[in-house]
Amino acid sequence: MKNNIYSYTVKELEHYFESINEKKFRAKQVFEWLYKQRVNAFSEMKNLSKNLIEKLENEFDIHILELDMKQESIDGTVKYLFKVRDGHFIESVLMEHEYGYSVCVSTQIGCKMGCTFCASTIGGVARSLDAGEIVDQVLEIQKLIDPDHKRVSSIVLMGSGEPFDNFENTMKFIDIINDEFTLNIGARHITVSTSGIVPRIIEFADMNSQVTLAISLHATTNITRSLIMPVNRTYPLEKLIEAIEYYNKKTNRRVSLEFGLLDGINDSEEEALRLANLIRHLLCHVNLIPINYVRERKYEKPSQNRIHRFAKVLEDEGINVTVRREKGSDIDAACGQLRAKKAKLIPEEELCQKD
Ligand code: SAH
Repeated sequence: MKNNIYSYTVKELEHYFESINEKKFRAKQVFEWLYKQRVNAFSEMKNLSKNLIEKLENEFDIHILELDMKQESIDGTVKYLFKVRDGHFIESVLMEHEYGYSVCVSTQIGCKMGCTFCASTIGGVARSLDAGEIVDQVLEIQKLIDPDHKRVSSIVLMGSGEPFDNFENTMKFIDIINDEFTLNIGARHITVSTSGIVPRIIEFADMNSQVTLAISLHATTNITRSLIMPVNRTYPLEKLIEAIEYYNKKTNRRVSLEFGLLDGINDSEEEALRLANLIRHLLCHVNLIPINYVRERKYEKPSQNRIHRFAKVLEDEGINVTVRREKGSDIDAACGQLRAKKAKLIPEEELCQKD
């Protein structure tokens, strides 16, 4: 297989050009065509010689993702199913906000973390994505919305996969997409979410990146958390909280704590109070997520009333909290649902949404 052109940083492409006795400024020219002009073939790169174009075509692949399917929600959320070069499918989501457009990218094909409420984990992980396969999710979606003069201005790494189980490629993706020669998406407009792989949280803290860190917390006792998130058996709550303390101290940044509410499991007022006590001392913000129903996964979201009671307890305790507005629940936008269907990991009728 040829090299994925989108996995290259400007520096790396400069090295490539030097290695074939070309001027290194060619790298910036190629980047301009890829990311600013957004062409789909090396042959469209008008300031390169025919000979050089041929070399590039032999060395690199420019077609990394092929759009297979698109689902549009009534709220404007669009979910894209892409086919990667080895035939697997991945999904990415475009969301519209008051402040602009964000793209939710996948970092792996499937996921091995095994969270019991999540569709991405059905069938385990096939492989991690390389940096360029993550970059191209954003680039291809940007190309699709170019005709409407819309611009992707933020990114969340909350699609299928565990970004911190694919740490190097994830960090490289962030480097590339953040670069002024590519889509130039500011680090402050990027959020990376982890289920809680403690050593990687420490490593990320030490990088002192401006990228926002989100942690999927989802429960306040080891018993419940281990039940719904197997990662908790390796990195229990005490270790996770310690890692967040370290992150807060090292970077002086707040973390976003994701808390998915599952009816009858982690949505009681006692749980809310326990949560307040667990995180009171942290620099953080709580994002309450009414869990997207995945029938295979049994769970249901609590009633609006229960969700608001949970939020109210946190507010009364002085915790910074928002209830995430649900997006695309009519189009299987919860992580991994579309891919699971496509890969026939789940019969279509088994995977449906419920209000
Ligand atoms: N593996 C990373 C990132 C991908 S999941 C992580 O765990 O953080 C992104 C977010 O979606 C996580 O907070 C995850 O817990 C949440 N999520 C997974 N399944 C969901 C569902 N069915 N409904 C709502 N949120 C879900």
